[in-house]
Amino acid sequence: MARSRKSNDEPAKSLAELRLRQAAQRIDVADEVMERLAHPRETLHASLRVRMDDGSLRSLQGWRCRYDTTLGPTKGGIRFHPSVSQEEVTELAFLMTFKCAVADLPYGGAKGGVAVDAKELSPTELESVARAYMRCFADFLGPERDIAAPDMYTNDMVMAWMADEYQAMNDIHAPAVLTGKPLILGGSHGRDTATGDGGAIVLDQLHSRLGLPDPEDTRVAIQGFGNAGARIAELLHKTGYRIVAVSDSSGGRYDDDGMDPDEVADHKAETGSVTGAPTKGRGRNLKQDELLTLDCELLVPAALDGVIHKGNARDIRARTILELANGPVTCAADDILDERGVIVIPDILANAGGVTVSYFEWVQNRQGLAWSADEVAGQLDRRLRANCDSLWRRYDESGCSLRTSAYILGLERIARAVEAGGTECFFRRDMR
Ligand code: NAD
Repeated sequence: MARSRKSNDEPAKSLAELRLRQAAQRIDVADEVMERLAHPRETLHASLRVRMDDGSLRSLQGWRCRYDTTLGPTKGGIRFHPSVSQEEVTELAFLMTFKCAVADLPYGGAKGGVAVDAKELSPTELESVARAYMRCFADFLGPERDIAAPDMYTNDMVMAWMADEYQAMNDIHAPAVLTGKPLILGGSHGRDTATGDGGAIVLDQLHSRLGLPDPEDTRVAIQGFGNAGARIAELLHKTGYRIVAVSDSSGGRYDDDGMDPDEVADHKAETGSVTGAPTKGRGRNLKQDELLTLDCELLVPAALDGVIHKGNARDIRARTILELANGPVTCAADDILDERGVIVIPDILANAGGVTVSYFEWVQNRQGLAWSADEVAGQLDRRLRANCDSLWRRYDESGCSLRTSAYILGLERIARAVEAGGTECFFRRDMR
């Protein structure tokens, strides 16, 4: 479902270079902090040998990138998708590094993936790919080294297979090597809904500061009706927001009077699509990208990366964008939106509910405890609201976009950790 993270309008510079440069222009950071963050710490590439159901052998390309370890072991998902490449996992690992820093979690960032179309695999082939991935990357991963999680086209069952393979290879019980596991195998309450839940908490905490109208007067359009998009639709509807449009890979549905996401979910479960879902009477289907430029107050991209780009950024009519997907707004579009006064709540804050509950799962696994659903929900709420307040303070002080403010906040945290071990200015006598 992903497209390349770099759309045609993007300059050749890496995401890391662009984001770091923007943040570093506003704060005083030691050169060596920038030097550490300019490139990933390590990346492993492997060929996964997988026996297919028809007896043939396929050699699939897989990667795992550990971007930075300053704040702790690395953390990040594993995706199975044809677009996966070393460049993609590197960018996503960079993003994870800053997401964990902004979320104030004791982690660095990582990402992994296999270039494969998971939809074409049989269940047995999917299990073989999952186990082959773990056989190739077991020495790279580990509960105190690099902790994986589900991402696109990998789910809790894939995590269960991978954890099983890791534990069998090492002859140990080590559920903390992965998060996003089934509850019965050491998963956490709330992990399945954490990204949508987190997005709703972030929106609630920032609502008045963003200058959004009361929920009943806020028209919301949500691109993507999967794990993250469907959940936030349900929560915002319950809070009184007017969900005027939703879409999935087959098209979209619109009703200015608002839709009931539960009815849309039932319709999608029956038909496989949100198109044709019940509305209050004035509903119509939308073409694929029509949703993005609808007249509404809040736009929630919750599907693909790079969907808001230089070519359509000027047509976006929403005044606020909540990035539930990773990287839905390109760097070039960001500048245009900023110029036009559109506020983007950046992915590294807006979708951090997922990694935050993954952290809770890791903590529970390491302590041999299981928290109640209420405890998870309470801790998630408290942490995300505190993160929003810290970010908003940076935003007020810096006078730049929320995204750049988020990168400033993350960079400050990473820099403090580097500086605690001494930088050049400590070690060189003449600079003291
Ligand atoms: P998902 O696979 O459950 O859902 C994705 C949805 O997007 C599906 O409804 C799919 O039909 C839809 N979609 C695909 N192509 C589309 C298109 N062209 N137009 C409109 N809709 C389209 O995935 P998810 O877990 O909900 O993840 C969505 C995004 O959120 C991804 O960018 C992911 O990286 C990000 N994210 C997810 C989590 C998580 O915990 N699930 C955490 C952080 C970030």
